[in-house]
Amino acid sequence: MVTDHKNLIENFKAVSAVPRGSGFNEKISGFLCDFAKENGLEYIQDEALNVIIKRPGSKGYENASPVVLQGHMDMVCVADPGVSHNFETEGISLVYEGDWVRANGTTLGGDDGFALAAGMSLLTDKDLVTPPLICVFTTDEETGMDGAKALDPKVFEGVKYLINLDSENENECLCGCAGGLRIDGRVPVARQWVKGDILHISLTGLRGGHSGAEIHKGITNAVRLLARVLFELKSIAGFCVVNMQGGEKDNAIPSSAEATIVLDDCFDIAKIKEYIKNIETKYRRAEENISFDLELMDACETTACTKDSFDRVLYVLLTAPNGVQAMSPSVEGLVETSLNLGIFALKDNEACFNYSLRSSCIGEKEFLSQRVRLILENAGGTGAEKNAYPAWEYRTDSVLRDKYVAKFKEVSGFEPKVNAIHAGVECGLFAEKCPSLDMISIGPDMKDIHSPRERLDLASSVRLYKVIEAVLAELK
Ligand SMILES: [Zn+2]
Repeated sequence: MVTDHKNLIENFKAVSAVPRGSGFNEKISGFLCDFAKENGLEYIQDEALNVIIKRPGSKGYENASPVVLQGHMDMVCVADPGVSHNFETEGISLVYEGDWVRANGTTLGGDDGFALAAGMSLLTDKDLVTPPLICVFTTDEETGMDGAKALDPKVFEGVKYLINLDSENENECLCGCAGGLRIDGRVPVARQWVKGDILHISLTGLRGGHSGAEIHKGITNAVRLLARVLFELKSIAGFCVVNMQGGEKDNAIPSSAEATIVLDDCFDIAKIKEYIKNIETKYRRAEENISFDLELMDACETTACTKDSFDRVLYVLLTAPNGVQAMSPSVEGLVETSLNLGIFALKDNEACFNYSLRSSCIGEKEFLSQRVRLILENAGGTGAEKNAYPAWEYRTDSVLRDKYVAKFKEVSGFEPKVNAIHAGVECGLFAEKCPSLDMISIGPDMKDIHSPRERLDLASSVRLYKVIEAVLAELK
C-alpha cells in the first residue's frame, strides 16, 4: 500500500464519501466550500455551483501571477448489473489492491476525484513553494461541460498558466484537443401501405468505440454497413423498408443496427442469404464477431417508406463522409478532423441522423459541417448544428509545457509524451474565454474510466503530485 503523501490519499477518501454524480452537484460543491471555510481560504461558489478556492503565494512568490489548477467535481455513475447503489445519496466504497484503488461494483470517480484531492492538498500544504493558487473545480463536465461553459472569464484575470488535472496517463502531457459539434440531420420520408413477406435483418457484434479516441482504428460503422447491404440487395430483390435503426449515442461508433423490409412478390431467399454470407465473410477480417441474422416472416400488411423516399435516405447514408477526414500536420498520429454517424433512426415521417464532428482546426470543422448539410439538403432534408464546443489549439511555444517536461524528467527519470487528443476537454472552453492561457492537461494512471472496472494508481498519483509541487516552485 502506498503511504500517504500530504494527505493526498486521505483527501481522495474524503471526496469519495460525498455523492457527486453529474447533475447532482449540491453535496460535493457544498463540501468543497466547507473545506475552504474550515481552512480559512477565500472561495467563490457561482450559480453553476463551480467552486473556486484561492491561496496566496508563498514567501517570495506573493506577486507572481496566479496559477490555476483545475478539475471537475462530477463523476460518471455506472454500476455492475445486480449492484444496487444510489449515487445520489451514497458515497463510493473504496477497495485497495496493492498500488491501486477501485470501487466495489461501481465507477470509482478517480476521474476526476484525483483533481479534487490534489487541489485540497496543495491548498493546505504549509510548506508548499508556490505562486498564488486558484483551484477551479467545475460541475457537470461529463455531461456537456456545463460548469466550464458557465465559468466567469474574470477567474482568469492576470493568470498565465493553467494545469488541468483530468487526464489519465501519468506519462502523457496533453497540449491540445479537438473542438466539435453535433449535427442533427433530418430527411422527410413518405410512407405507403404495402403487403408482402417480411424480412428482418439484424447486424450485431461490431467492435464499436469512442467516436473521438477510437475513430482512427478502422472500426466498421454498423449503420453505414447496413445501408450498404440494403443498397446492394436492391439488385437481388425488390423491397420497401419499414424500419431501420442503429446506434445509441452520437459520440460512439454504432456496433449494431437492424432493418425490417417488405419483399416484393417474387424473391429468391437463397440468393439473399448467399449475398449476406459473402458480405459477412468480407467484413470478418476486421470485425471478428460480426453477425447478420435474417428472420423471414409471413406476409402481412404494413406501412413502409416509398422506394423513392428511402433512396434519398440511402443517398445520405452512403455519400456523407464518415470516419477520419484529415490527420494533424503538427502532431504525429493525431486525427485532425473526423465525423461519426452515431445514431440513425427511421421514424414515421422522417429519417433522423445524428453526427458527431470533431476537429482541432476551426476552419475544417466549419467546412465539414457545411458539406454534411449540403448532402442532407440535396436529399430534401435539413442539418442543424448543436452543442458546439471549441478546440484547444496546440501552441508551438509553451513555457508551462517546457517546465513541466523538465521537472517530470527530474522526478520520474524519463520524459513524458507530449500529446494532443481528438476529443474535447474543458481546456477548449478556457482557451475560448482567455486565449492567452498557457495550459497543460495531466493526470495519474487510471484504467477503464467510466466503467465499474475503473481504477486509480495511487503510486502514480503520488509521483505526479510531486511533479506538480516541483513545477509550481518554478513558476515565479
Ligand atoms: Zn474527467
